[in-house]
Amino acid sequence: MLAFLFLLLLSCYVKYINIKIDNLQEKTHTYCKAYADAQNVGEPITVTQCDAPFSYGLQYPQTGQEKIDERIVQIVNDIRSAFNDKYLHSDGCLSADTTLLLSYETYTFSDSHISLIFYETHIINNVFSPTKVYAYHFDIRQNEEQLADDLMYKNFRECASRYAQKYFQETVPYKNALLKNYNESLLPEKGLFDCFALTFEGVLFFINPNIILPDSYGVIRLLVPYEEIQPSISNYDDEPKNSQKIDPKKPMVALTFDDGPNPVYTNLILDVLEEYDVSASFFDLGFLVESYPYVSRREAALGCEVGSHSYDHKNLSELSDDQIEQDVMDTSRVFCKVLGQEPSLFRPPYGNRDQRIANLIPMPLILWSVDTLDWKSRNANTVMELVKDAGNLDGKVILMHSIHESSAEATKMLVPYLLEENYQLVTVSQMIELRHGDTPQNNRIYGYDYFQ
Ligand code: ZN
Repeated sequence: MLAFLFLLLLSCYVKYINIKIDNLQEKTHTYCKAYADAQNVGEPITVTQCDAPFSYGLQYPQTGQEKIDERIVQIVNDIRSAFNDKYLHSDGCLSADTTLLLSYETYTFSDSHISLIFYETHIINNVFSPTKVYAYHFDIRQNEEQLADDLMYKNFRECASRYAQKYFQETVPYKNALLKNYNESLLPEKGLFDCFALTFEGVLFFINPNIILPDSYGVIRLLVPYEEIQPSISNYDDEPKNSQKIDPKKPMVALTFDDGPNPVYTNLILDVLEEYDVSASFFDLGFLVESYPYVSRREAALGCEVGSHSYDHKNLSELSDDQIEQDVMDTSRVFCKVLGQEPSLFRPPYGNRDQRIANLIPMPLILWSVDTLDWKSRNANTVMELVKDAGNLDGKVILMHSIHESSAEATKMLVPYLLEENYQLVTVSQMIELRHGDTPQNNRIYGYDYFQ
């Protein structure tokens, strides 16, 4: 009889647990579904667990990159511990149903960067708390976490703050519901602009409830186009910023950056050039100059040389004469519109050139003499090692790319290193004129042997 009662009780208990789990699974599923459309990186892992007095419905991604995956699990565990601590130490009114729900979104920008956004909600006595949001950044090629400050060019918070102030003051339905000190919360140093995802369209900021708007508005998403948070060039509109005087007798080296402009990484590189008051040469693609004209304008405003790298990076060896001429015309049109002048230098995509191509390009064709292979290693330290191993750099033209985070990181180390080694940083035209006493000639190829 006792055994029977025990079995009956046991089956009831098991049934109760099952109902609770089903319920939790359902809640978790419903909660996570809202974010599923933006879960594009990695595999979603879903964990539902009852561990009285707490229940957990957690979803997070695993990317297959060990270090990143460990870090993501650690973030989830930290959120879980903070949740436990919060309610274990609250004054005894713990309900049987104290649940943590966690889901995520991923955003990509370039082939190496992902932003991971976590959404956290608590259910206490069947009441849902306002959702909280967190942002993390990873370089999936380098297999490492990135911090917002390393990821974005300087002053982006100031620019975003100005944009957000104006946006919320003018936009229905927000403008009539703003909390009292909302404009103070929107100051650049208040941390609100640390929570963002990089997207192709712009920087997507996430604002937690009850900071500038009441809880009922939930998490606010504010997409700010890159153009709106571009570093200002108005301070040096009239005269190029770079004031460095080049001494033809002293060692000089030319940094060159291909394949841009990129609204984030090129700006990071320009921050470095601006900080050290030095110049470089950019070989930009016509279609990207068209997409991000304000970045190419900043290159020019900083006294850098902006050359052409063709309209869209086709292999010129495979194009007919007419097609090459068309490409030159398309690129010139964009450069004239954006920079007010035709490009004065040309770097052929993949370095592919011959005399037929050179004869069709009404510009000097510029190659390089030190290849950092930055596009291949995607590692700033490897780039540095390669440059250090290249020996005497006087007269050399160094090839890099302005579309990778790691290349921007390498530039941060490389520029001070070159200056310490007493090199002057010059543009390619300055190298040709000051080092060789030549005037750059159209249709001529300036190759490896020239830049020695
Ligand atoms: Zn290229």
